[in-house]
Amino acid sequence: MAMADGITWLRMPLPMSLNHINLWLLRDSGGWVIVDTGVDIPASRDVWRSTFATAMRNEPATHVIATHLHPDHAGCAGWLVREFDVDLWMTREEYMLCRVLAGDTRDNVPEEAIRFYREAGFNDAQLALYRKNFGLFGKVVGELPKSYRRMRDGERLTFAGQVWEVVVGRGHSPEHACLYDRDRNILISGDQILPTISPNVSVWPTEPLADPLREWFESIDKLEKALPEDVLVLPAHGKPFRGAHVRLEQLRKEHTDNLDKLLERLREPLRAVDVFDALFNSSINDGNRVMATGEALSHLTYLRNTGDLLAEKDPQGVTWFRRT
Ligand SMILES: [Zn+2]
Repeated sequence: MAMADGITWLRMPLPMSLNHINLWLLRDSGGWVIVDTGVDIPASRDVWRSTFATAMRNEPATHVIATHLHPDHAGCAGWLVREFDVDLWMTREEYMLCRVLAGDTRDNVPEEAIRFYREAGFNDAQLALYRKNFGLFGKVVGELPKSYRRMRDGERLTFAGQVWEVVVGRGHSPEHACLYDRDRNILISGDQILPTISPNVSVWPTEPLADPLREWFESIDKLEKALPEDVLVLPAHGKPFRGAHVRLEQLRKEHTDNLDKLLERLREPLRAVDVFDALFNSSINDGNRVMATGEALSHLTYLRNTGDLLAEKDPQGVTWFRRT
């Protein structure tokens, strides 16, 4: 669907509870810039092949952009880049971490990851399940090219005369690129601003002491300053909308409310796996425990760094959080 002159909206199915991703084609001289790519499974490649003939009118891609490293965004990037023999544009932290994670997930389960989830409170059965499921990232993210073209915060990209400014946000992923067309007041927001769901803000085993929630709050402040209230937001999931400031405030409040609930819940020392009920309305099961643990840890780490919580290890190596 044409969103504006030279911007085409593609909706691609995803094989998970989040059942679609929005991808964008930007008019370029001699072809199309592809923004985000879908997970690399045969069904996605089929969608792309029909897109080449329909929305892209058999014109080539000129560049492939991935807003960030998550599989629904970067999954088909490597394949598309090779199909059209073009370059991949990403921010540096997203490209590097994507390469690292794809490499790690082709190896055995890292002991650092087992230690990380044991510290969070996983029992032996939950750790065994983690081992069994390990490696999905590398299966649905196709091999990236061995070199890339770096996008930097504040940089202006020009495609067919239309200027897009790179606006970096953090917290959901390390260096997420949004693209802002100031002339037409349109933002391709990736996962940094979503209309209905709150993007996952998690700590992962690669960097156990990271504080992504602080970065998420800082990015909300930054985006409120960078964007006008009436910007048309083209998100990666859900429908395009206006009202970015209202939505950013909602996203902020969701987390500050959760921090309050967490402190209330921590009247006694607890592990990361003990606080899910303070943070989530839905029940946590084998399918979502890893993500819920990362999200719990981002809130606990934030409160630890503000001095509201202390973390202590018991003789089994499990971390207990308590109020100061
Ligand atoms: Zn994402």
